[in-house]
Amino acid sequence: MKLKILSLFALTLSLSICTVGVNGQNLNPNKVTYPEYSAVYRANFTFPQVNGYKVVVCDFHTHTMFSDGLVWPTLRVAEAWTGGLDALSITDHIEYRPYRKYTNNDHNTSYEIALSAARNSGLILIRGTEITRTQKTLGHYNALFIKDANPIAVEDPKASIVAAKNQGGFIIWNHPGWAVDTTYIKEFQADLFKDKLIDGIEVFNNSEFYPRVVSWAVDMGLTMIATSDVHGNVESGTLLEKGFKRPVTLVLAKEKSAEGIREALDNRRTVAWFQNMLAAHEDVAKQFVTANISVTKVDSDTKNNWINLTNNGSVVFKIRINKQLYTLPALSSIIVAQPLANGNVLKSNFENFFIYENKTLAHDLYFN
Ligand code: ZN
Repeated sequence: MKLKILSLFALTLSLSICTVGVNGQNLNPNKVTYPEYSAVYRANFTFPQVNGYKVVVCDFHTHTMFSDGLVWPTLRVAEAWTGGLDALSITDHIEYRPYRKYTNNDHNTSYEIALSAARNSGLILIRGTEITRTQKTLGHYNALFIKDANPIAVEDPKASIVAAKNQGGFIIWNHPGWAVDTTYIKEFQADLFKDKLIDGIEVFNNSEFYPRVVSWAVDMGLTMIATSDVHGNVESGTLLEKGFKRPVTLVLAKEKSAEGIREALDNRRTVAWFQNMLAAHEDVAKQFVTANISVTKVDSDTKNNWINLTNNGSVVFKIRINKQLYTLPALSSIIVAQPLANGNVLKSNFENFFIYENKTLAHDLYFN
């Protein structure tokens, strides 16, 4: 798989200059290619529109060898595209660049290298960077939608964030619980909140979930974000064996574009999706569930109504209806029997959809 991803863009180029005969056979009998050139493909996510918005699949936090990542920027793009993402941000650290002596670059280089590959494959590339200060006291922050990462490289941590903000940057407080025992708001972050310098927050990063941060996002009106923060390969090693899913942020946008994503982030229309769990503001969560699940009565007998629940999207829902727990897999249907006495409502709680610290979404489903 690694080799195939590496060669994705090289293959695209070579396809246009080789002559392909009937049945896909190369016309040169002395140089035959196996497997055929179309061996690399994209796994697509499917979602219905939510309240008129398109669902855009995004990873806003990734690294390349231009900070402490292990891959070249075009590989990040190819990996995102094959993984079904619509948008990617490469957020190389400003302050931590261990391979710098081997490269001749500035803070914009990874974006510049990735851009043509992203355009060629239709992936939206959002310019970003990670402001990386002492985790225990100051923390790490992604600045997205910036215009130039170089002027953000200033000594004073707050001035750095202000510089990003002045470029129109969208500021995310990254992994509030990483490398510390618990999640807490220190003096520095309290000051940033006071000055409205933080727009979004990671409720999930890589393989860490911060339940309390969901409630901070609700209480302070922040946009909820889930990211991979990938440095090596996505989905490899132990993570892959344990069924790891790349964490992504589902953005409910008016249009599938950088501008559309930005408008949605500014209005906190996101669903953080990680390891078959979801987190969102309650109004967004309700709209997302309503759009994704269709409810139809298929039969009734002397005791029960028989209800078909169909999931029209790519996430999994775990729903407690009355006292029973159901799993409704992606793009699937289940049948639920409901006593006639319960009327035309399924009293439902979405057990894998967080809307506050340790609180999941209660949202009744109705049928006719
Ligand atoms: Zn990072």
